[in-house]
This record gives sequence, structure tokens and C-alpha cells, in this order.
Amino acid sequence: MRRWNGWGEEHTHYPFPDSAASYLSDRIGPGTPALDSTLEQSLKGIPASRLPDLPNVRTELIERLLHARGQSLPDWVALRSGKIGVFPDGVAYPEDETQVRALLDEAMRNHASLIPFGGGTSVVGHINPPEADTPVLTIDMTKLNRLIGLDETSRLATFEAGVPGPELERQLNAKGYTLGHYPQSFELSTLGGWIATRSSGQQSYHYGRIEDLFAGGRAETPSGRLELPVLPASAAGPDLRQLLLGSEGRLGIITQATVRIRPIPEYEAFYGIFFPEWEAGVEAVRQIAQEGVGTSMLRLSNARETETTLALSGKEELVRWADRGLRILGFGEGRCLLVFGATGRAETARQAKLQALSITRTHGGLNTGVTIGKLWRKSRFLTPYLRNVLWERGYAVDTLETALPWRQVIPAAAALQKAIHASLEQFNEEAWVFAHLSHVYADGASIYVTYLFRRAADPEETLRRWSAMKSAASRVILAQGGTISHQHGVGIDHAAYLPAEKGPLGMEMLRQAARAVDPDGMMNPGKLFEDKTVHGYVRIKNSQ
Ligand SMILES: Cc1cc2nc3c(=O)[nH]c(=O)nc-3n(C[C@H](O)[C@H](O)[C@H](O)COP(=O)(O)OP(=O)(O)OC[C@H]3O[C@@H](n4cnc5c(N)ncnc54)[C@H](O)[C@@H]3O)c2cc1C
Repeated sequence: MRRWNGWGEEHTHYPFPDSAASYLSDRIGPGTPALDSTLEQSLKGIPASRLPDLPNVRTELIERLLHARGQSLPDWVALRSGKIGVFPDGVAYPEDETQVRALLDEAMRNHASLIPFGGGTSVVGHINPPEADTPVLTIDMTKLNRLIGLDETSRLATFEAGVPGPELERQLNAKGYTLGHYPQSFELSTLGGWIATRSSGQQSYHYGRIEDLFAGGRAETPSGRLELPVLPASAAGPDLRQLLLGSEGRLGIITQATVRIRPIPEYEAFYGIFFPEWEAGVEAVRQIAQEGVGTSMLRLSNARETETTLALSGKEELVRWADRGLRILGFGEGRCLLVFGATGRAETARQAKLQALSITRTHGGLNTGVTIGKLWRKSRFLTPYLRNVLWERGYAVDTLETALPWRQVIPAAAALQKAIHASLEQFNEEAWVFAHLSHVYADGASIYVTYLFRRAADPEETLRRWSAMKSAASRVILAQGGTISHQHGVGIDHAAYLPAEKGPLGMEMLRQAARAVDPDGMMNPGKLFEDKTVHGYVRIKNSQ
């Protein structure tokens, strides 16, 4: 069963050794655990539903609680403290497109807002109900999970959009294919959610981001069905797929999507390379990206992330042994770890590996083989479970990300970490901040920052600490000319920063596009851009 107030399946736990607790305690102080709200207490806080009895709409308290929040830090604070505030009035699980259409029409008749819900893994408040005078209906898409077409000649597969990652891969693997889209939230996130948030998988350097994989599909909008034909390429005006990508539920409900697939790779391995310092690693991955070397993933951790990953890994003996060996070889405090993947036909993957190793060598990289890569692969979807154990030990953890041209990568990464650190000083608290380059391109890279801090006994105080760090970092991203999100999307947490990136005319184009298919503003109001709907100004609260 899925955790109602944390990450993932209840029976899965991140192995957190005592040495990891001491490591954190030494750096930011002992954790300050506070009592969480119980499920029973949280259920008591849910007001009566404002929806009339509707076919296929469930109004049980537990359903409304399970669809009230996603996975952002404010969502965690709300769920753990029981101060959730706003809930959907009903939840529906349509089983086909006809039911989706009927629910949309029913919501229109009842002047209800509608929130499409995939896996609920949003980390920026995408699926949180608005505080509005009118009822909110959440449409959980996870029963639309079938493979409905496979064109092996064109390597295209059509799925219902609520299919979660593992189910999608299971159905494709059975036929010898893969999509290869692996966000870290893979276990729970869905195809429709990936499209609606412009998601990026860990190996998107090889398989492509979701915008490269999404070939066409269908969406039900308040004004009717939007059909996006599947074409390899087209010069017939602006590409409407690009409007649906990143639409965050504002344009309609994506019901089916055709994606570009590949045969299951013949060969795959991940390699661990140490660099003596960050700058050398950044130069190496830039060269690999700019020379078009066909690796499947490049993830370069900075020195602090390298140290923290090893400290929290639970492999004390291995880490001690590696530390001793690395120091002897001259890789000291500043060492940075690169994990890169080689995936595909055996011969092409081997070529890519050799080219990447040759480039890393010229930048002082030390190849440690596949041991670290194997550990990374084993824990690639386990790492998010660390959030549960950290919270229970009294620490909160959040991540943020951006992408910018290579010229800005090193200064922006430094400025981000400095700003996050400095913004906690007013609370007399320390933040433990580290970063990696998660995705690289010929012209730039994405920087992914993780920050850990002690939570306070008062949930509002925890939220104030988070808010200070998050806004300081967002201001740095704007000042450096980066995007407010490389992969997590906009939701509510980034909405205030979007106009700086799109400009006033661009924002108006987005609003008008939404208005064309949703004149009453019923679709996921308040996300992507703040708006007035016919029901009055919509406000979304992060906490009571
Ligand atoms: C631990 C963790 C790790 C993560 N790692 C990554 C990562 O590596 N890469 C990455 O890109 N993201 C990552 N994310 C963010 C998140 O998983 C993605 O944004 C994901 O694409 C959301 O998919 P979902 O199905 O959970 O959508 P939800 O969270 O349910 O919804 C997200 C948005 O999509 C809309 N939506 C969902 N389904 C539909 C549909 N069928 N039609 C129309 N709109 C729809 C919703 O209305 C909402 O606006 C991570 C999140 C967590 C918690």
C-alpha cells in the first residue's frame, strides 16, 4: 500500500545507518523530530463535500485526503502536521475515454473545477485544490493504464495516459521494447503526468525528454476533444503537441498518448569516474556532450554531494576503503563523482564508453569501473525513500533545479548554494546544500540542488525556513538567466517566477490558449499562471 503522508510503498524503507545520522548531526545539528498528525486526526479535519451525488464520483474522506496534496515540501509539512486546509470535494477513477468525457461534462454542469491527477508525484503543488467557493473534482487517471496500440514497423506505442512507469515498461518489455523514460519518481508517476509537466528521465540523454518521446495523442477539453495526429515531423504551422506538453492540466485531460519506443537495449552499464575537482568534471562532461558521444546518462556530483552520497549510502566499510585508496591517488576533499551510462547495441555502447573514458582521462578522471554504477542502478528509485527516514529523524529535505548555458553553469551552481545557505542564517540554523549536473546538452546543463535542514516543532516555522531558501534560490536562478524549472514544472510554487521567463506577451498567449479550450477557467485553476476565473480569484494555499 502507498504511504498517505510520505514517499512510496509502505513496506519499502531506505536503510539509514547510525553513522549517517551522526554525519548530519555534526553538520547541521541533531534532528528535531516532532509528532506527526495521525491518519485519524487528519481525516477529522476534512469538511463536508460540496458536490451533489454524481455517478462514478467518490466522496469518502480517505479518497479526498489521498488526493489533497502531492510531494512538494509544503505538501509534506501539510500532510505531516494535519494542517491540510483544502481538499477535493470528490474523486473519480474513469476507466475509459467516455467516462472522462462524462465526468468533464458533469463537472461543467455543477460549476466544479477539475484537477487531472496522475501519480500525484508533483513537487511544485500541481494537484493541490484551489481555495474557491465552488467544488473541486479530482480525476484520478490510474485506471486508464492499457497499451492500446503497437506499431512495430514505426516503433510507436499508444497507451492510455494514466499508465504508471513500471506498468508501461512491463507491457512494452513483454513485446521486446522500452520507452526508457525513468524519472526518479518512475514507480508512481504516469505517462499523462510526464507529458503535462514536460518531464525528463534519468537517461533522457539517450532516450530523449518526454517532448521527444511524445508523438501525438488525445485530450478531452471543456470545449471538446483535441486530437494531435502522430507524424514523424511537420512544417504545418506551430506544433500543438508543444502546447499540451507542460500544460499542467490547464488545457484538458490527456486520455491517450503515442510514444516513440526502442528495442530493449542489448547492453547497459554505468561507470564511476572520480575527478580531483568540480571544474575538471564540468569540463569533461561539457566536452562529452559537445562532441556528441553517445552515452546514456551523465550525472556529475559536486564535492559535497559526492561526500554526502557516500556518507548516507550505508556502505561504511566500502566507503572507508575507497576513501583511503582515493586519497593515496591524490583525490582528496575536492573530489567529484561522475556516473555515466553506456546503453544500446553492444558495439555502439562500447564505442561510447571508450570515447567517454578517453575524454574523462584527459581531464584527470579516474575510472573506478562498474561497482559504483551498479550501486547507483540498484538504488536509483530507492533514494526518494530517504525523505521518509530523514523526516522521522527531524530533518526536511527538498530539491530544486534549473538549466542554463555552459558559461553560467559553474557560477550559478555556486551562487545557488551560497544563497540557500545564507537565507537560513536569520533562523540561526544551518542548511546542508549540495548539487549535481543532472542533464547535459551541447549548449548547457541542468543544475539539481538538494538542501537539507532541521525541521521545527511548529510546522509554520518549518515552512518559513523552506520559503526563505526556496525564494532566495529562485531569485538567483532568475538573476543568472536560468529557467525556473528544467524538469519539475511550474505548478503553484514557481508560478510567480514564470512571467520573468515568458514575458507579458508570452503569458497572455498562454492564458488565451487556455481560454480557447476552457472559457470558464475550470481546468486546474491557479497552476502555471495565476488567474481570475468566472468563479472569482483563485488562490492556492500552501498551508492553513
Ligand atoms: C521523489 C521524486 C522524484 C522526482 N524525479 C523526477 C525526475 O527525475 N524527472 C522529472 O521530470 N520529474 C521528477 N519528479 C516530479 C514528478 O514526478 C513529475 O513532475 C511527474 O511528471 C509527475 O507525474 P504524475 O503522474 O505524478 O503527475 P501528477 O503529479 O499527478 O500531476 C502533475 C501535473 O500533471 C497534470 N496531469 C497529470 N495527468 C494528466 C493527464 N492525464 N492529463 C492532463 N494533465 C495531467 C496534473 O493536473 C498536474 O498539473 C519527481 C518527483 C518526486 C516526488
